Amino acid sequence: MPMTTPSLLILPGDGIGPEVMAEVRRVIDWFGANRGLTFEVSEDLVGGAAYDAHGTPLTDATMAKAQSADAVLLGAVGGPKYDVLDFSVKPERGLLRLRKEMDLFANLRPAQCFDALADFSSLKKDVVSGLDIMIVRELTSGIYFGEPRGIFTEGNERVGVNTQRYTESEIARVARAAFELARKRSNKVCSMEKANVMESGVLWREVVSEIGAAEYPDVALSHMYADAGAMQLCRWPKQFDVIVTDNLFGDLLSDAAAMLTGSLGMLPSASLGAPMENGRPKALYEPVHGSAPDIAGQGKANPIACVLSFAMALRYSFDAGDEADRLEAAVGRVLADGVRTADLILPNDGGAPVSTGEMGDAILGALDSSL
Ligand code: NAD
Repeated sequence: MPMTTPSLLILPGDGIGPEVMAEVRRVIDWFGANRGLTFEVSEDLVGGAAYDAHGTPLTDATMAKAQSADAVLLGAVGGPKYDVLDFSVKPERGLLRLRKEMDLFANLRPAQCFDALADFSSLKKDVVSGLDIMIVRELTSGIYFGEPRGIFTEGNERVGVNTQRYTESEIARVARAAFELARKRSNKVCSMEKANVMESGVLWREVVSEIGAAEYPDVALSHMYADAGAMQLCRWPKQFDVIVTDNLFGDLLSDAAAMLTGSLGMLPSASLGAPMENGRPKALYEPVHGSAPDIAGQGKANPIACVLSFAMALRYSFDAGDEADRLEAAVGRVLADGVRTADLILPNDGGAPVSTGEMGDAILGALDSSL
């Protein structure tokens, strides 16, 4: 790693974005003060907040900052106020532009179940308790982008067309991302496609196997048809470590896996691109949830998804896996102590919820005790 202080661009966004990000800023400060992990932090606008200030959901200047930052951490964008805007300036366009121009081809969605929340899953406690898997979804190609696409008229009826298309290099780069991740975890990758019925799946399987054999012989690679993979995720998800799959299957499988673990307020994500000159991947970290306009401004938001997104940044952008473990363990301890924001309280559970800031306090307290 270079000796210069790594840079972190923070884009809080809209709704609960700034509320949850305020707690992450406190966590970042804690690591600076207590672990010598300092970042050159800058903050900017995205989404509706950027539209209000500049008439665009992402200015060119902010885009340029994101391109040169060592990592970008985003809160959430959107809100009913902006629903009337033209599609080209809607808050979500800001996020899409970031993902597209940074060429973030590997979307990482962990499904991690904290023991204290195992009751939240729709599956049996022993199936999900201790679960920690990572779905790597190809994000910039496949059937959502392939040409031709459209609704055409053939004879006297309409035909809807989308095209699944993958080049060898697109498969290879996301496969490498998955293998690299596996090396930081349990050295196990399961690749999912439908090679039984799709040529793109046959190529996917071939390329992933070739990359695995040539460059990652130390990582155990297995293959599964994506439909069987969906069943196995519900039956016994702990058999997996890293799952790598295409854009469409990844969309479905990562949402299904997310529900294994409970509340939306708990789910972090990362989107990674090609390595920069300093060896770090281009990277955007963000909670899976949106701007939650129904609870915005009320101090009810759960900051954990955003805090865990920062933990992912520590692990995947800043080579600080031990500190990421420390932060995740602190979140686990807080939950084990029964500290709950409103989204983590089942209707028949009772108990008073804590506020966003109180959850932040509890996480900082648990970090203090970890020293
Ligand atoms: P949402 O994720 O904002 O909210 C869904 C439900 O989950 C709401 O009831 C909300 O209160 C709850 N929730 C979400 N995050 C929470 C948290 N951290 N703590 C406690 N409860 C939480 O999804 P939505 O309501 O469909 O969308 C609202 C807005 O967010 C829309 O404008 C949408 O376009 C946008 N959105 C943005 C992103 C993003 O920025 N990546 C993702 C999804 C939706």
